[in-house]
Amino acid sequence: MIELRLIGYWRSTAAPLWPDPAWFVDESWASSERTRVLAYLRAGVPLWATGGHSWCRFRCGTHACGSAELSDGRFLWPEGLAHYVERHGVRPPDELVQHALAGTPLVDVSAIARTLGPGDVCIDGSWWSNQRGFRAGASHLSPPRRGTFVARSPGAPPKLAVLRLIRRLPEAQALSYPGLLERLAGGGAVPVLSGAFEEPIPHEISELEAAGLFIEFLPDRGEG
Ligand SMILES: [Zn+2]
Repeated sequence: MIELRLIGYWRSTAAPLWPDPAWFVDESWASSERTRVLAYLRAGVPLWATGGHSWCRFRCGTHACGSAELSDGRFLWPEGLAHYVERHGVRPPDELVQHALAGTPLVDVSAIARTLGPGDVCIDGSWWSNQRGFRAGASHLSPPRRGTFVARSPGAPPKLAVLRLIRRLPEAQALSYPGLLERLAGGGAVPVLSGAFEEPIPHEISELEAAGLFIEFLPDRGEG
């Protein structure tokens, strides 16, 4: 049995219990240390891939933060954690930093998991969910930005019921049903709600998401 400490999962509307990355931003962190920790995080051994790519909570435009989970035999982190350290000044908790700087050799947990079986890899998420970082009260969501929600239909053309749902929203009414269908079937984005705050997500937008549409928020100029 090997126990791994989960780290680097971030809060979202769907996962409100994880820490906020803004709590961990430390621009004064020595770059020499940052570079070594970054290299350590990148050298983690891939344990498994999760479904889908994660998106950057700081909304820098990076949508492909990776989908693998990496480990050193002690911690388990998403591949995307390195992005936050490199681009957004995120400093992981001291426990991880000290462990990374100590030069402890990485353990190939995937080999252990193959030998023991996946049931013998135990993942502790409680330590991470209790971390509060260094800037309590900061949030990657504050202040909420204003902008436009747009919808796309992933894969197949949307069903009539979904089109009706979209047409209830003011912006989408500018398009006729055939025009709407053509746009979505061709993979295009349809603006559905403008002048809206990004958070909390309007319930009519959540409904579109629940109906299987891919929703994106485009901040207004100057709100980026
Ligand atoms: Zn980013």
